[in-house]
Amino acid sequence: MPQQFQNLIHGLWCDSSSGQTFENRNPANWKELLGTFPLSTKEDVDRAAAAALTAYRSWRLVPAPERGDILRRTGEIMVRRKDELAEIMTREMGKPLTETRGDVQEGIDTAFYCATEGRRLFGINTPSELRNKLNLSFRVPIGVCGLITPWNFPMAIPTWNLFPGLVAGNTFVFKPAEDTPQTANVLVEILMEAGLPAGCVNIVHGAGSTVGVAITEHPDILAVSFTGSTETGRIVAQNCGKQTKHVCLEMGGKNAQIVMNDADLELALEGVLWGAFGTTGQRCTATSRLILHEAIHDEMVERLTKAAAKLRLGNGLHSTTDVGPVINEKQRKNIEKYVKIGKDEGAKRVLGGEVAGGRAGSTDLRDGWFYQPTIFTGVTPTMRIAKEEIFGPVLSVLKCRSLEEAIEINNSVIYGLSSSIYTRDVNAAMRAVRDIEAGITYINSATIGAEAHMPFGGVKATGNGHREGGWAVFDFYTEWKSVYIDYSGKLQRAQIDNS
Ligand code: NAD
Repeated sequence: MPQQFQNLIHGLWCDSSSGQTFENRNPANWKELLGTFPLSTKEDVDRAAAAALTAYRSWRLVPAPERGDILRRTGEIMVRRKDELAEIMTREMGKPLTETRGDVQEGIDTAFYCATEGRRLFGINTPSELRNKLNLSFRVPIGVCGLITPWNFPMAIPTWNLFPGLVAGNTFVFKPAEDTPQTANVLVEILMEAGLPAGCVNIVHGAGSTVGVAITEHPDILAVSFTGSTETGRIVAQNCGKQTKHVCLEMGGKNAQIVMNDADLELALEGVLWGAFGTTGQRCTATSRLILHEAIHDEMVERLTKAAAKLRLGNGLHSTTDVGPVINEKQRKNIEKYVKIGKDEGAKRVLGGEVAGGRAGSTDLRDGWFYQPTIFTGVTPTMRIAKEEIFGPVLSVLKCRSLEEAIEINNSVIYGLSSSIYTRDVNAAMRAVRDIEAGITYINSATIGAEAHMPFGGVKATGNGHREGGWAVFDFYTEWKSVYIDYSGKLQRAQIDNS
């Protein structure tokens, strides 16, 4: 019998009111059933929101440093259980253990960072325009927040939201992605073990179209943080807009790595291999386009194709695996669709382009959702494979003649999450920093590698102006309260001529 997992409402594990469940399977071996999870309903969201509201009334009064202490203990437990957590994550979403360990480490870093923010939620004092009057402003919590997450960073993304949101005094209704529900349960178990009171984080598993929608429509959920595709994010924004909820959207990307003619090509090669094929290309910051200066184009393509052909596909639990499976059948079909589009558009496939079959070590690739690392050359900026997010191990190579053209190509997509340029010319690097339209720019480094204490997020269709990470996330998870203290003993009227 597969293990039956449950929702968490007010500290108690419980089934959905529907009594129905969905399956969680290993993408590297879909015959392996990891467990079943509740297929929840709007009524379950109602109960979770009520629990979160009750918990909020006392949680908001706990001193922030004390709230931070719970996160510090959470981080300590995560350190102890890092390998175990990584294994759970690799089993349910496929990326190699080195990467899931990194995903857990990002959660640990966020826990320790947010723990200290409990002592640093600084306010701002300014002089009053009137005598004998003091002006203060400080951050206060919002209330019950909704959290809707994707599967590709099943630990980091929930922690980027839960930890700062909690230390700021909010409580949560959390809907994890259907493909990574177990990681969410373990994370919240750890929070409770660290001392988080019942009801501060409630988990409701299930489909976006029911649970996700119910979160965006619930009147007691005042803020919603969503990470996922731009298509879904637009629906979330519309739903939240009807009730003027705060909404933080972290959405799709079509990130590019630029390599100029003076670049260290070996370094650039390592960067693109990691950026394009790490997490099987399923990172929001994955390198989906490689923009090569014409002078080094042919050499770089040759070296890249040779190196990418050596990447070993397999089960992420095996130490020999470089590239795991894609998340599910739907996503693999989407990749197949885009590869066909690329061929039809006239791009040249120089590597891969097929579903991966056969055996890799002890893994039978036919039992998982594996797809070969794929490279297209001769891609032009107007092709769909140059513009649309594919979210798989498919790299589109474009040619440029100058820095200006490279930046123009970089900026020609609707997205703007991450970007990278390899050059030894400091002037070119600085112009790229200034002119690239993206929330994140790396110089001589891959498009991936965000650190927990820096703002994270994108411009254009990738985001809506908010940032996760670092100090910036507190702008989303708090409201400002302005306080005027008049100790003059008389009515002083601001802006009015008092003479
Ligand atoms: P998705 O949009 O399909 O789903 C994301 C979450 O939204 C899931 O939990 C899903 O159940 C839920 N959802 C679906 N429909 C909903 C609705 N109508 N209302 C409310 N919630 C709903 O995305 P995915 O396939 O899980 O993740 C891949 C996408 O996420 C890619 O586009 C990737 O670029 C993006 N992503 C972005 C970032 C970032 O920080 N910018 C990080 C990771 C992933």
